[in-house]
Parts: sequence; structure tokens; C-alpha cells
Amino acid sequence: MTSSSTLALLGGKPVRTRLFPAYSVIGEEEKAAAARVLDSGILSRFLGAWHPDFFGGPEVQAFEQQWAALSQVKHAISVNSCTSGLYAAIGAAGVQIGDEVIVSPYTMAASATAAPVFNGVPVFADIDPDTYCISAETIRARITERTRAIVVVHIFGQCADMDPIMELAREHRLVVIEDCAQAPFATYKGRPAGSLGHMGVFSLNYHKHIHTGEGGMVTTNDDRFAERLQLIRNHAEAVVEKKGVSDLSNMIGFNFRLGEIEAAIGREQLNKGPGLIEQRKENVRYLENRLSGLPGLRMPVVGAAQDHVYYIHVMDYDAQVTGVTREKLVQAIKAELPATELREGEGPLLNMGYVRPLYMLPLFRQAAATMGHASPMARAVAAGQVSYQDGLCPNAERAHYTRVITHELMRPGMQQQDLDDVVAAFHKVWENLDQLRA
Ligand SMILES: *Cc1c(COP(=O)(O)O)cnc(C)c1O
Repeated sequence: MTSSSTLALLGGKPVRTRLFPAYSVIGEEEKAAAARVLDSGILSRFLGAWHPDFFGGPEVQAFEQQWAALSQVKHAISVNSCTSGLYAAIGAAGVQIGDEVIVSPYTMAASATAAPVFNGVPVFADIDPDTYCISAETIRARITERTRAIVVVHIFGQCADMDPIMELAREHRLVVIEDCAQAPFATYKGRPAGSLGHMGVFSLNYHKHIHTGEGGMVTTNDDRFAERLQLIRNHAEAVVEKKGVSDLSNMIGFNFRLGEIEAAIGREQLNKGPGLIEQRKENVRYLENRLSGLPGLRMPVVGAAQDHVYYIHVMDYDAQVTGVTREKLVQAIKAELPATELREGEGPLLNMGYVRPLYMLPLFRQAAATMGHASPMARAVAAGQVSYQDGLCPNAERAHYTRVITHELMRPGMQQQDLDDVVAAFHKVWENLDQLRA
């Protein structure tokens, strides 16, 4: 064995030490947009009273119209994060004390914390082992007479199989909220994410495909949901009387308002979105052509109805095939590669597992974060109606603890040489698996 093939993890020379290029999507267009707002002197035009400005300023409203057109929906309601959007959607859906909301455990925490904000009870359904999304089958197994809504997360950038889910929802009169944080511009049977359920919620935080620093958007075709979302966004309690709202359920408002600068930037980001997605797909194709033959490594499974937008490139790893544990393998690949500019502290953007199934969070395990043991969650657990115990969602646990390898090394900005270095790192590790078995 030559020293050049010694794995970096074992003291050899790494494939690359120079940082990967940053994912930076802010340019002249966004600078001009922000300057336009600054020059106007009006950084937000929202008014928490029944008045035309209740719906926000010109940039906010233009951004919403542009988003609605692109998502092929009647209404888009901007918010200051996807988390706020999820909270607003659960409120708009009318979730009441003790209502059950079915959700994936394999997602960012806010998908599941929205229900308890309105005293609802999250019920975790298992994921499909190929798409990592919840499915009609896994949802059906969790439906009870208390179920009110479903939060379907289009995880990693691929839509869940929505038609059977919507059929099930119709059968049981459930509200379906799509968490599209990781799937803007994704489609299912040619229809955009966010137009498939009753409401769709998007993120515009700095890590997402397109961003405004912080921000979010909620889409819906339903006039009533749209009105409730707008109320919850902007101090509902101050306007429901003047607006003549009769259904006051969940009509305590928040301040989830998006600023004018963010909205102006968002309009430019929306223009750039499709091109950025195309680059992601090209990079994924390039990597997959060169990684798909590696024994024990499976590329993401994309459904025939879906168009994947690759927020994260997620691979399935079978340690039985290589005889090397996933932990050791990922350590070895990471040792060959550098961090990415602007995200230096995170090391190479390659990891295992994604997130621990959410029911393992203390919030659910102790079920006491809101209202202590009087909380509907705690009562539902005590009554044996829901469980947050290990083993609840075997596919999610298996993905997290044994199978999944994720990376973000396909983001736009990565040039061919950068991608070639990623490929070289994988191949070097696979050619030297014996060093890891020893
Ligand atoms: C990022 C993310 C969120 C939260 O988005 P914020 O805008 O940061 O609140 C929610 N759900 C999923 C699946 C996410 O990836």
C-alpha cells in the first residue's frame, strides 16, 4: 500500500483541505431591492388594526402575489418564519384542546411543536423507508376519533405521495398541512408543493434553497383558512370585532409579520429559485453517476410522481455489505474533505442520521412543556392514547441510527473540481475499506 492511499482518518493526506465555496445566493438584485426599501423609509407597513395596512406594505403584498402565482394557489400569506407559519396553520385549521395532529418524527422540531402551541397532541406516524415521508398507510394506522389534522413534511426535497393522503383526509375530514420548508419548487404529478394539501408552509431561513435571512410563506386555496392565517399573523384579537369574525376559535393573534426588506429580497430570490434548483439537480446527477456503483451505498429513491429538489442529498448505507460501521465510514469521508466557506464551524457538510426521531425530545418524553402535567399531551400519554416511547416508529429509528448518510455538497456554487473532490473522497474510502475494518 502506498502512503498516498492511507486514509486521512489514519494519518494519510486528505483529498482536499481548501474550503468548499460558500452557498451564496445574495447578489446585486437583492442589494438593489433592499436599497429600494431603505430609500422609501418604510421598513414595515403592517398595522395591528382593521385598516388597509392590516395586510402589510407594498413589498409584502407583491411578494405574496408572486408566490401565489408560482405555487398555483389563490392565497399566499407571508410570515416571519416557517415555524410561525406552521403555528398559524395549526391555529387556522382550528386545532382545539386535546385534538390529535398526525406528524412525521423525522423532521425539524417545529413540524411537531405547532400542535401543542394550540394545546393539540402530536401523534407520530412512521416514515416510508424509501422517501422518508409519512404515507397514507402509516397515517391511517394513527387515526382516531380525536384526529383533526395531518402535518405532511416533504422531507429532504421530495413530496410525500399526496393523492392517497388527501383521499384519506377527505374520508376522515382532516385538514392537511404540507411542511414545504425543504421542498420549494418541488412538484408532485406536475403540481407544486404547497398546492397539494389544504395549506402549505415554506421557510426562507438562511439554510434553505432561497432565503431572506428569516422568513416564511403559507399557501392555501381556501378563503377561510387565508383569513384565519392573516388574523393569527397580526394580532387577531385587535381586529376580529371590527372585521366581524364570528368563529373566534384560536383567535388570539401573534406578531408573525414579515418586514418590507425581507419581502423585497424574497421577490428577487423567487426569480432565482428555478435556476438554483436546476443547478442542484445537475450537481446531484453528476455525483450520482459517480457514486451509485459503490457497494452498500444507495442513492435516493425518487418516486415516479415526484420531482426532487434536493435540499439534502440522502443516501442509504448498508454496513453489512462493506463490513464497516456507518460511523467509521462517515468519519473517514469527512477526514478527506474540508468544511464549506461561511459554515466553517460545522466541518464537512456530510453527516449521518439527520435528526433523532422527535418523540425522543424531552418536550414529548416529559409532555410537560406547556401546562405541565395538565397538558393535553401529558393527559393523552397518561390515558394510553398516545406514546412517545422508543420503538414507536421503527423506520425512522432505523434511518437515524443505522442507515442514513446525508450531505449538502451538491449545492449551487460547487464547481466541477469541487464535485470531483467529493467523488474522490468517497472512492478513496471505498478502495481502502480494509483499513477501516482492521
Ligand atoms: C427549516 C425547517 C423548518 C423551520 O423553518 P424556519 O423558517 O427556520 O422556522 C420547519 N420544517 C422543516 C422541515 C424545516 O426544514
